[in-house]
Amino acid sequence: MRFVSTRGESPPVRFEDAVRAGAAPDGGLYAPERLPEGVLASLTGDESLAGAAHKLLAPVASDGALAAELAAICTEAFSFEAPLVTPDPARPELLALELFHGPTGAFKDFGARVLMACLASLTPPDEPLTVLAATSGDTGGAVGCAAEGRKGVRAVILFPKGRVSEFQRHQLTCWDAPVSALEIEGDFDACQALVKSAFADKALSARHRLTSANSINLARLLPQGAYLARAAAQARAKTGITPGLIIPTGNLGHGVAALYARAMGAPIGPVVLATNANAALSEWAATGAYRPRASLPTMANAMDVGAPSNFERLDALPAALSGVDVERVEDDAIAARIISDFLASGYVWCPHSATGAEAFARLPAREQTARPWIVAATAHPFKFADIVEPLIGRAIDPPPALKSVLSRPSRAVQAKAELSALIRHLDSLKDPILT
Ligand SMILES: *Cc1c(COP(=O)(O)O)cnc(C)c1O
Repeated sequence: MRFVSTRGESPPVRFEDAVRAGAAPDGGLYAPERLPEGVLASLTGDESLAGAAHKLLAPVASDGALAAELAAICTEAFSFEAPLVTPDPARPELLALELFHGPTGAFKDFGARVLMACLASLTPPDEPLTVLAATSGDTGGAVGCAAEGRKGVRAVILFPKGRVSEFQRHQLTCWDAPVSALEIEGDFDACQALVKSAFADKALSARHRLTSANSINLARLLPQGAYLARAAAQARAKTGITPGLIIPTGNLGHGVAALYARAMGAPIGPVVLATNANAALSEWAATGAYRPRASLPTMANAMDVGAPSNFERLDALPAALSGVDVERVEDDAIAARIISDFLASGYVWCPHSATGAEAFARLPAREQTARPWIVAATAHPFKFADIVEPLIGRAIDPPPALKSVLSRPSRAVQAKAELSALIRHLDSLKDPILT
């Protein structure tokens, strides 16, 4: 299978080249030249997650450098479950796909693990890549965790001092070699600007073989379609009806993965993207005009995106494959949804997942009962305990994985928001342990 740039000015490449490169050289994003129709149509829902991921990725990687290791990569990355549960017995059509049972408690664990395994597999261990990840939350933790103990990749996480929660800070700073965390005296934009200037420094970039781990990388995006497709097959097997999907959306990685999976034959009906107050996508759905903008801070901060980086991929899909609805959910509605669903059933949504639960509640009654609806529950509510606990009036217990994060020692290197500080850190890194 070949991948072409959404801007059409770069030659087609194989999967492994798209993974190594991240973005295309013409500034666009790599997208499948043609999606392999029907490859997911045979899913029964009885597959393991690793099995579903292999089914999806095999045609993607079959003729390239990752083919031989693909099965092992899927088994390693999909080693924890994504259960499909009924949060409220009184509303059996509403299903929650819990994507937060991995080591850092959010769906990004899946994609980060596939990406790191692919990069490590494509790189000679004595010439390690250095992954730079500027983060305001979930991504950095998932990337750090996925890089720990690997050969062939190092990870350097940059996060803004004083602007992440105590738990988030812990989760960014607790990973062992070859992972290190830089606590930057500045805000998230300063962290991102530092990463950008590091990439712009060609000599530095070559010396450390810098690469990034953001959600435009296909090795992060595509595997997300696997658990969505399997969950859809499970819902269909149980009810005989093709389910709808509701996806809490920020940069649109998950949403595009859902559309790709549907185009590949997964039994996915209507797709609804739930956003927070950031309105670029809801405005686009309503008017057809796409206007990227600065992001607004909300309760669902991992979705605070004013210019979704995967919009180009959505826009590049043929009209027959790209049908989605968009529902915008403001902070007061997120809070009200967390409270009312907790009171009704005892189920606790994180603020991101709550946008999806609210989008379900806003569907016309006939639509709600016409088919099962799967809401992607993107993070464990414990990660956002400071927001959720006051709403529901009780403490949230950390799941075992997040408890074990808390029991790890934390270490961060303090740094000014200056390129010279980042260079000093990079040059001080020792080669990862080679065995
Ligand atoms: C990243 C993230 C999202 C948004 O996902 P996209 O793929 O960027 O649309 C939603 N919820 C949580 C908890 C996240 O970490």
